[in-house]
Amino acid sequence: MTYDPNNVFAKILRGEIPCKKVYEDDYALAFHDINPQAPVHVLVIPKGEYVNMDDFTAHAPADLITGFFRAVGEVARQLELVEPGYRILANAGSHAGQEVPHLHIHIFGGRPLGPMLSR
Ligand code: 5GP
Repeated sequence: MTYDPNNVFAKILRGEIPCKKVYEDDYALAFHDINPQAPVHVLVIPKGEYVNMDDFTAHAPADLITGFFRAVGEVARQLELVEPGYRILANAGSHAGQEVPHLHIHIFGGRPLGPMLSR
């Protein structure tokens, strides 16, 4: 699995295309999804070249893994989603319908989210 440095989230990380940023630290960048599926729909991406969860958990250094997941929790807190709750999701590979080949965790919230899978 080879990382494509021209994927859209790599371009966002490099500042080549804009995003509606909600959070940034040394390990992660979070921004609003361009096509929101819930009242709150934010994407959190690691600052590193990892295709998906498989690549990230197999190859990323421990400080990046820790920092990235801390950032996901921090974003949810800053968006005031802890109460009444939120959902995180990461698509990996074709069965999951992953579109962008840079690891991203979706954070959904702002309304009751219904069943875990649509079908
Ligand atoms: P995936 O299906 O790979 O898990 O999700 C990719 C997500 O990226 C989709 O929800 C899609 O709306 C979002 N997306 C695709 N291109 C862009 C973009 O240029 N900017 C932002 N903010 N989101 C994008």
